[in-house]
Amino acid sequence: MSYIIGLQCRECGRNYPADPLNVCDFCFGPLEVVYNYSEISKVISRKSIESGPLSMWRYKDLLPVEGDEYVDLGTGFTPLIHAKNLGRYLGLDQLYIKNDAVNPTYSFKDRVVSVASTRAREFEFETIACASTGNLAGSVAAHGAKAGMKAFIFIPDDLEQGKIVGASVYGPTVVTISGTYDDVNRLCSELADTYPWAFVNINMRPYYAEGSKTLGYEVAEQLGWRAPAHCVVPLASGALFTKIWKGMNELSDLGLIDPFSTQMHMTQPNGNSPIVDAYNLGDSHIRPVKTPKTVAKSLAIGNPADGIYALAALRQSGGSAVSVPEEEIVQGIQLLAETEGIFTETAGGVVIAGLRQIVKNNGINPDEPTVAFITGNGLKTLEAVEHIVDTVPISPTVDSFADAIANRL
Ligand SMILES: *Cc1c(COP(=O)(O)O)cnc(C)c1O
Ligand SMILES: [Zn+2]
Repeated sequence: MSYIIGLQCRECGRNYPADPLNVCDFCFGPLEVVYNYSEISKVISRKSIESGPLSMWRYKDLLPVEGDEYVDLGTGFTPLIHAKNLGRYLGLDQLYIKNDAVNPTYSFKDRVVSVASTRAREFEFETIACASTGNLAGSVAAHGAKAGMKAFIFIPDDLEQGKIVGASVYGPTVVTISGTYDDVNRLCSELADTYPWAFVNINMRPYYAEGSKTLGYEVAEQLGWRAPAHCVVPLASGALFTKIWKGMNELSDLGLIDPFSTQMHMTQPNGNSPIVDAYNLGDSHIRPVKTPKTVAKSLAIGNPADGIYALAALRQSGGSAVSVPEEEIVQGIQLLAETEGIFTETAGGVVIAGLRQIVKNNGINPDEPTVAFITGNGLKTLEAVEHIVDTVPISPTVDSFADAIANRL
């Protein structure tokens, strides 16, 4: 059973069928899925969701697919952890970590790709593809393998080894491009006109982006069916940020949670912060960053497609925007690891460093439920932290150990 009515242009409101389309023919605005919420409200309840699978597909009624054959690796319903140690350090009693680093391919991208690949199979595509800053590559390759589809991955040629190897293992064709992510994305938009493929974040983008709503649903459900007071989120294209906000608003509109006021806080690295900068300048358009220079490669989108919608969500929610100095990113990774035992990739370092800044600016009261979104796994960005390795080399004798350790005690 599907509750999709069709697609609609976010700018001019023109309607389109629920096809593999992503831009409006008239105004080039992005298209978004429209649902029949009055039908959804007849079937959905807290109970119906709670009796579903322990995965993102427990929210199937709010996702843009038609059948019930999902391309599912077991994504979602990841832990929401009360971070008491980090909370104590920061002076927050109600700090939670949403740990999406433990998804099947170790990032939140499995949520969007599970939806996009399911929809791609419904459209009978035989090949799945993407332009990726890293994590999307592994996720598309894995879902392609599971769905029996061919996979083509397009990435900038300077990505971390963990992301290249972590995608290659599933057997896709990996194409590396000498250029930025924005170059890769532009190329893929051209290829999507020629090759009859499901580019998950291009012609499948309206469906793809909806997968991120499940992070908003899960956090609300895991907090006992209420929205948090604060969300701290990393932004690349801005889609994730926008969809967490949308997800919580849908729950409230459907009466599944009480009306809420959640402040949405955006975090980007200093080396690439076009959306944060636009907010700080009071702009309503985004000035693209030509050559992003950041250790947080997963966030290195200089020309973010959903930037203006993320700005709108930020303003609507009364949140804030912080850009994080590059040297604080690794500190953020270490702080989360040393307090909570969670190893995040560089995007998570940006979130933790951003959270520290928001707290320093008195942006969060100690007793307000606050969720920091950890979207990817540290084992994929080892290069960023390898300089902290400091082992104690010894020979296999007690004396050797005692000598070596003496000046450390
Ligand atoms: C892609 C990505 C993001 C940002 O997602 P957008 O929807 O493009 O803003 C954040 N964190 C990680 C780890 C990612 O891979
Ligand atoms: Zn339009």
